[in-house]
Amino acid sequence: GPKDTIYRVSVALAHNDIVLTFEDQTASEQAGQMRRDFVANVSHELRTPLTALLGFIETLNGAAKDDPVARTRFLDIMAHEANRMRRLVDDLMSLTRVEEDERVRPREEVELGGLLASVLKGLEPQASAAGVTVRLDLVVPQETVPGDAGQLVQVFTNLVENAIKYGATGKEVTVSLLPRAMHARLRAEAVQITVTDKGEGIAEHHLARLTERFYRVDNHRSREVGGTGLGLAIVKHIINRHRGRLAIESQLEKGTTVSVFLPTAAVS
Ligand code: ADP
Repeated sequence: GPKDTIYRVSVALAHNDIVLTFEDQTASEQAGQMRRDFVANVSHELRTPLTALLGFIETLNGAAKDDPVARTRFLDIMAHEANRMRRLVDDLMSLTRVEEDERVRPREEVELGGLLASVLKGLEPQASAAGVTVRLDLVVPQETVPGDAGQLVQVFTNLVENAIKYGATGKEVTVSLLPRAMHARLRAEAVQITVTDKGEGIAEHHLARLTERFYRVDNHRSREVGGTGLGLAIVKHIINRHRGRLAIESQLEKGTTVSVFLPTAAVS
């Protein structure tokens, strides 16, 4: 099992003695396994749309060559598949970038009310296409935290996009900016931002794994709505870099609330 210790045993001869060395390999073995799983996942995720694209190219070159209706339809599907590949590559690049600078502390002064308003404005077309109303509830109108504005835009874009995608049945998404308060686990004062939807919800046994790369509750549905399975992994990394916390509460068929806690002063 994953909790077993893995040793590397090496044997050496010294002065007519046999020396056995045991080296604890547990961490590096697990890292190696994780890397292999990751590469396998990426390959699979890219290969699926690629196979579809090659199939359509072949059809367009053969059976559908002189059929303008089929041509238009196939080109639409091909654009859809190519977009899926692009989203995946974009997300992979974001993930790599956040992992790289996770140790560098962000220090810009970020005004959260304005940042949230601009995120919601950018997602308006997506929300109205899904028939969802997104409400912004600034309990405190002005709130500033040390952070990386670009990365925080990415965090809230991802969370609100998820609320729109998976919460569409509820028709209503609320983003709230709450007053600063002491956070016990962080042992620091933090601002809380919540993204609440009234959608399908998430069964409890999934909650702990949602921020794993490529983890999806329902593979098929997530793909349909255009998910890569990397969104929450990116969110988690960015929040870690800000020394903050992510909390997800959910009830099946009732909805989901995702909370982001961001320290108000640079903690070390
Ligand atoms: P994806 O790109 O597939 O949306 P994420 O990492 O953002 O990947 O989310 C992982 C999974 O968590 C999603 O596939 C979905 O099953 C589930 N999920 C995320 N947000 C919500 C939500 N607000 N309501 C229900 N399920 C959600």
